Amino acid sequence: MNENKMIVDLRSDTVTRPTPGMLEAMFSAKVGDDVFEEDETVNALQEKTAAIFGMEDALFCPSGTMTNQIAIKRFTNPMEEVICDETAHVYRYEGGGIAYNSMASVRLLYGDRGRLSAELIEPHINPDNVHYPKSSLVILENTVNRGGGSFYTLDQIEPIYHLCRLKNIYLHLDGARIFNALAESLDDPKEYGRMFDGISVCLSKGLGAPVGSVLLGSRETIYHARRIRKALGGGWRQAGYLAAAGIYALDHHIDRLKTDHKNAKTLAETLISLPFVSSIMPADTNIVIFELDKKHNPDEFVEKLKHHGVKCNTFGKQMIRFVTHLDISDDQIGYTLDVLKKMH
Ligand SMILES: *Cc1c(COP(=O)(O)O)cnc(C)c1O
Repeated sequence: MNENKMIVDLRSDTVTRPTPGMLEAMFSAKVGDDVFEEDETVNALQEKTAAIFGMEDALFCPSGTMTNQIAIKRFTNPMEEVICDETAHVYRYEGGGIAYNSMASVRLLYGDRGRLSAELIEPHINPDNVHYPKSSLVILENTVNRGGGSFYTLDQIEPIYHLCRLKNIYLHLDGARIFNALAESLDDPKEYGRMFDGISVCLSKGLGAPVGSVLLGSRETIYHARRIRKALGGGWRQAGYLAAAGIYALDHHIDRLKTDHKNAKTLAETLISLPFVSSIMPADTNIVIFELDKKHNPDEFVEKLKHHGVKCNTFGKQMIRFVTHLDISDDQIGYTLDVLKKMH
């Protein structure tokens, strides 16, 4: 431990610290009371994000969980049903919020690394019959966390959009890592604005802001969203200091996401060649999920890596997850590869 003090934190892309430029932007933000809608930096962030996706309006919130939960509440009534993949963050990692906040049930589908298709969804839309909960909302995640950062392209989403319109079902995007998806698909974000009724965009993941997520929607949706946010205790005051970090992130940290993807691929290429790795998901964006052979205990593996300064998480069964982000340098990737090659 002593000969090398390097710490490489691959647990999540949420662990980033604000850069000096971001801190400067935060310190010099002009703020006001956002519950009165008077924080000009919050308003600027909301306008800027809405414009990127060609949506009417936006609401800055403390977390991606909150933007998703507000959207679910807005797009469902109690006793109705949400359709999503079984790996979805909204289902697995939001504390049972769908049941608690919206009193809705969930239909879980088994997609391709978390990605759904119109063919997969259609048979699970309930007929209008008193026995069945009303299917009212489809949620897609892009990129898919548990899919190892798999992403949709627009032509995969378009048929789902048409199906939802035909069946009168809302379509929401958990776009916590939407900019990672866009960096690879090169799709036009305004097409997302056209197809989705709601979009959650995280600023505190790959974009490197300390806190915050933006919910996008129509003016009417955001009007309701603001009321729901208040009831959840998410009405905040001089949030402009955080919004300033978000604006800075949108201006400076989108183009560099490709670097994270390259680093993820580099890690994946080495991992695949190691004897104790039995399988690995394609590293499509900034997430690498691999499986250890049966001889290795994943908790012990994580402890061993940590002893060498490389932090990561287990991800179910024999799985380990690495996430690359803005605080991971080339040197750190090189160091991690050296550590991995010495593991047995
Ligand atoms: C991180 C994440 C969110 C939001 O999480 P918060 O920690 O509440 O900001 C939502 N969806 C996905 C896919 C995520 O990875």
